[in-house]
Amino acid sequence: MYKEAIRPAWAEINLSNFEYNVQQIQAKMGAAEGREFIGVIKADAYGHGAIQCAQVLRDNGVKTFAIATLHEAIALRNAGAKERIIILGLTPDMYADTLAKYDITPVVDNADNAKAINDAAASMNKTLDCLLAVDTGMGRIGYLADDTDFAISDVRRIAALPNLKIFGMFSHMSTADCVDKTYSHQQEAKFNNFYKALTDAGIEIPFRTLANSASIMEIPSVLFDGCRPGIILYGCYPSHEVDPAQLSLKPVMSVKANIVHLKFVPSNFSVGYGRKYISEKPATIATIGLGYADGYPRPYSANAKVIVNGVVCPIAGNICMDQCMIDVSNVPNVNVGDEVIVMGSDGTNSITADDIADATGTINYEITCAFGQRLPKVYVK
Ligand SMILES: *Cc1c(COP(=O)(O)O)cnc(C)c1O
Repeated sequence: MYKEAIRPAWAEINLSNFEYNVQQIQAKMGAAEGREFIGVIKADAYGHGAIQCAQVLRDNGVKTFAIATLHEAIALRNAGAKERIIILGLTPDMYADTLAKYDITPVVDNADNAKAINDAAASMNKTLDCLLAVDTGMGRIGYLADDTDFAISDVRRIAALPNLKIFGMFSHMSTADCVDKTYSHQQEAKFNNFYKALTDAGIEIPFRTLANSASIMEIPSVLFDGCRPGIILYGCYPSHEVDPAQLSLKPVMSVKANIVHLKFVPSNFSVGYGRKYISEKPATIATIGLGYADGYPRPYSANAKVIVNGVVCPIAGNICMDQCMIDVSNVPNVNVGDEVIVMGSDGTNSITADDIADATGTINYEITCAFGQRLPKVYVK
């Protein structure tokens, strides 16, 4: 229990493990050879706390951060970040002045939007850098990589803007985490073709970035001038299809709680909404103050396991919004105040973000993001 958490449930963020991952990734992607490490700390660093993670990245020489929203960019600037901050999503014209005010590097895929950003920068006597977004097969944002004629004519207009400099181009991989890399290599070819078309047309593109976590692990030909590691920073693999032997990682987030209530119940005692748990024999039921509003997925209820004093125990009944109950009948000497590992390891048993994701039909990314939202974060080294 941590006084500063102000509740007996918390996400424990291990910054030593985070730093370990950063250094493993730097070695894997060749950061020492001058390749830019773009630390992806969007969504509050996938739930781990962007400000704290940015500090560890900074201490390890990282000079570029990527976030998803202007809100996140402003929070990072206001926390004192002096580094380049790339916003990975498009920014509507209306917010161009905010980009300029906070010196954020936008991604752009049309000249009218670029002009609005240029004008906002000009009005503040500033020049901003931008990254061209290219759609090589993700189908999300960016110039369609196949339509180079349109792209060249549009990008020429951007290149002529005095207060918005084309710093580079980026694209995003959609299946780099699959065993079959065929589509990834098609994306790579489109990326190279787009680059060649623009540079042949006399448009200078000083910087290229394509790689996400899975690409860093398994597609060395797409590392280019900079890489954008996200999920691997946090010690999770991008999918079950990547080879973990490619990169050693340590999980950064654990989720823990203390037993706040304990009772001995007779057989045929029901627990929770919908009476999904009914004791078959006398049982010991513990309650913790953590629920689905904290990111503990309700659909996990029937399969959910936690670790109490070295014993793996099932959740009893449905996870509630802010609390849940545990059948601790097999735990000897259990007491109010005992620590419950909801996600993490006690050295012998472990419950990973992947375990929770697999049981609920989602991916580890969503699990850490969700746990990061309401739970207090406690940073340990
Ligand atoms: C989220 C994101 C990343 C990082 O992806 P991971 O799979 O977590 O490495 C990189 N680039 C873009 C554009 C993204 O949106």
